[in-house]
Amino acid sequence: MSELIAKLRDIVGPAACLSRPEELLVYEADGLTVHSARPGAVVLPSHRDQVVAIVRACREAGVPFVPRGAGTGLSGGAVALEDGIVIECSRMQRILEVSPEDRLAVVQPGVINAELSKAVKHHGLFYAPDPSSQAACTIGGNVAENSGGPHTLKYGTTTDHVLALELVLPDGECVRLGSPTGVPAGLDLVGAVVGGEGTLGIVTEITVRLTPIPPRVETLLAIFPDVVSACRAVGSVIQSGLVPAALEIVDRRTIEAVEASVYAAGLPTDAGAVLIVELDGAPEAVAGQVERVREHARSAGASGVEVARDEAERVRFWRARKGAFGAMGRLAPDLYVHDAVVPRSKLPEVLATVCEIGDRHRLNLCNVFHAGDGNLHPNICFDRRDADELARVMTAGEEILRACIEAGGVISGEHGIGTEKREFMGLVYSDDDLEAMLRLRAAFDPERVCNPGKVFPSTRFCAESNPKARGYDRVPFE
Ligand SMILES: Cc1cc2nc3c(=O)[nH]c(=O)nc-3n(C[C@H](O)[C@H](O)[C@H](O)COP(=O)(O)OP(=O)(O)OC[C@H]3O[C@@H](n4cnc5c(N)ncnc54)[C@H](O)[C@@H]3O)c2cc1C
Repeated sequence: MSELIAKLRDIVGPAACLSRPEELLVYEADGLTVHSARPGAVVLPSHRDQVVAIVRACREAGVPFVPRGAGTGLSGGAVALEDGIVIECSRMQRILEVSPEDRLAVVQPGVINAELSKAVKHHGLFYAPDPSSQAACTIGGNVAENSGGPHTLKYGTTTDHVLALELVLPDGECVRLGSPTGVPAGLDLVGAVVGGEGTLGIVTEITVRLTPIPPRVETLLAIFPDVVSACRAVGSVIQSGLVPAALEIVDRRTIEAVEASVYAAGLPTDAGAVLIVELDGAPEAVAGQVERVREHARSAGASGVEVARDEAERVRFWRARKGAFGAMGRLAPDLYVHDAVVPRSKLPEVLATVCEIGDRHRLNLCNVFHAGDGNLHPNICFDRRDADELARVMTAGEEILRACIEAGGVISGEHGIGTEKREFMGLVYSDDDLEAMLRLRAAFDPERVCNPGKVFPSTRFCAESNPKARGYDRVPFE
């Protein structure tokens, strides 16, 4: 390792290669604090050629490596296992090109999500994927996780906005995938890399689609006595054929946390839940939609529906929604943010089950989620130093995932599998499915040196735990 670190210092300079224990401490985890591992070293390249040289040095030394952006991931994806090297791309933060005519931008992977929209605003354009962490997370990380956000409902996830990529393969070769026109010739390899969770290579340049800023935006806040009636309103709005830009539910416990924090926006603390609805598009169309949403909310049981009076109030509503996870930081030292998707029609019953699970395990569980997409985020506030509480958190998490699968859902909407859910993959995929995914991965990384230990279960599932398995004994997958 010391020989490798010396080589890495030569490549990036001593200040951009961290190896002292106190420097490595912050790289032990991402936003999922219960899974941690200390890396062998952290390197911070400034450009693609340095990434190529780092990858080659790691391979010569037989040491695995892990790409990392801002470390806001919530599934342990950016954590280096097996003394691996973290290749942090945050210094590669240049916007290389903006073409208003072609409505695209070419960016380095360390560009912070929200900064891109700010930089292109004067062209009347924005970058649509908007994770709630957008003030910190990087576009490289968004690509790896195929990140979504509140506006996914109308605008889609990251994969709908990536046209082309430059990728340093795990053997150090640099390839270009896709095309700036967004029409790839041949197989859609961009589609494979987006959502690849950093296991297929290191993204060093991204060509993204930019979207025109809609001429009119209206943001509504509907107040409900409980989460179930808010969910009913969501179903009724979608069934009517309306496609709002966002449909987000915030429950009572989350409202209380937000209103006691710097993100306070005047949300009603006596409400069971609020539904934030954003409508955008042509002014005439949006005006009519506001009234239709108001009616749907009232019929589902809303006691009131407010429309943001101006841009400042709209920004306040969104600050409250996007700051919700941060606000929960006041309640306990640790936060476990779950992520699963269920069919929208199942939201009321699944939420009731989720709350029952939280109560039965005596946990402080709050819900704030992308209701329009059926993308749940049950958040558990806890203290991992309390072993008994930690055990209850983990048991409740598994029960929540199983309830979502039983309702016809999947185990991740936008946060990825990482280390967090790798052992649950067998609940939704057969061994044959997983073998097919491993074959795709092997085409990029035959020796599994790039972000090993993620996504795929460590062992094949035996028939007892996986009804789809063919009865293998537990044998290593990776
Ligand atoms: C408060 C909060 C709110 C959040 N809200 C949302 C939300 O609304 N929607 C959502 O989807 N997510 C959300 N997230 C999760 C997280 O922000 C996203 O997954 C984000 O895309 C991670 O970006 P990052 O730069 O922090 O990546 P990291 O956490 O550093 O890495 C994430 C993954 O990307 C890989 N990676 C990073 N850079 C590269 C690269 N250059 N090439 C290849 N692989 C790379 C890593 O190996 C890792 O597997 C939230 C997180 C927090 C803490």
